[in-house]
Amino acid sequence: MSSQWIFSNGKFVTKQEAVISVYDHGFLYGDGVFEGIRVYDGNIFKLTEHLKRLYESAQSIMLEIPYSKEDFQQIIVDTVRKNQLESGYIRVVVSRGPGNLGLDPSRCSAPHVIVIAEELALFPKELYELGLTVASVASRRNRPDVLSPQIKSLNYLNNILVKLEANQAGAHEALMLNDQGYVTEGSADNIFIVKNNTIITPPVYLGALEGITRNAIIDLAKECGYEMKETPFTRHDVYVADEVFLTGTAAEVIAVVEVDKRMISDGKPGKVTNHLLSEFRKVVTTDGIQCYPSSKNRAEV
Ligand code: PMP
Repeated sequence: MSSQWIFSNGKFVTKQEAVISVYDHGFLYGDGVFEGIRVYDGNIFKLTEHLKRLYESAQSIMLEIPYSKEDFQQIIVDTVRKNQLESGYIRVVVSRGPGNLGLDPSRCSAPHVIVIAEELALFPKELYELGLTVASVASRRNRPDVLSPQIKSLNYLNNILVKLEANQAGAHEALMLNDQGYVTEGSADNIFIVKNNTIITPPVYLGALEGITRNAIIDLAKECGYEMKETPFTRHDVYVADEVFLTGTAAEVIAVVEVDKRMISDGKPGKVTNHLLSEFRKVVTTDGIQCYPSSKNRAEV
């Protein structure tokens, strides 16, 4: 990518010019919402679903996004085109905007909207071949009645704290339980287990973000003929699973081979995980919104 253009409150600016107010409540209090989206070969994967989640998060925190969904979709497409990006990562942020030092959001003048589209530093290939290590952590997932994990808000301290715990345990990722001890999700990805060829993921009401990749994998698993269940489970079920894997926009589908120092099966990515990853990689270039009319005239758009 030659120079990077960032959409910031209605115009494209350079990285250096893309600044926000120190009074922005997104910065001061984590008051805002966001999305992380992938573009694969010009196709913005599941953009409609990401926009739906963004608007639902905003609705929940009474943040009015100053664009219609159609206009916002066009802004995201335009940001990808402006950067001539074929494959990469898109970050969309809508913050409450500049206010005063008090908490009151009604003092904020207008939301600040940014869209960043850039090349993604991909997870190292060997992590997909070897699988991840995971540690369950002492910090519990936010209770849905306190700060719902379904709101993709800028307040990610719960997730950051568990990531710190995972780092301290020497694991790649954290496993978060809810206040009743049921498994919810990782710091930034959903969890699945496979037992006797049945694929199981926790229901989101236990305290998980309703991941777009999670939902895509549920659909693919059913299409591939697997039995698929959304049922609560505990750490024990994870330890004795045949396979464990995580899903997320950045991670896609990635095997977990060790949880709390227990090796999962033979300690290698399992066949169901590998199968779903390959099926997933087939749909990512078609299921979404195409930014370019065809691959050969991309540069002219
Ligand atoms: N859980 C959390 C807490 C996340 O931040 C993410 C990443 N957005 C996910 C799960 C996975 O969601 P998605 O598949 O939509 O990226």
